[in-house]
Amino acid sequence: MIRVFICPKCGKVRVVSKYLKASCYECGRPMVVCHTPYVEWVELDETEREQIRARYWKSEK
Ligand SMILES: [Zn+2]
Repeated sequence: MIRVFICPKCGKVRVVSKYLKASCYECGRPMVVCHTPYVEWVELDETEREQIRARYWKSEK
């Protein structure tokens, strides 16, 4: 299963398969799993992705 992870610290997005956890390449923070499934994520346009990112990102800004 492929998951979309978002860094709550810097907002970086990673798409990860196999692993249940991921660390951010930029800041090393544990990333959170995005509740949008990967199959839906790839269908979104940039604006929609930004809105989802912002939801996870704001927590530690
Ligand atoms: Zn980060």
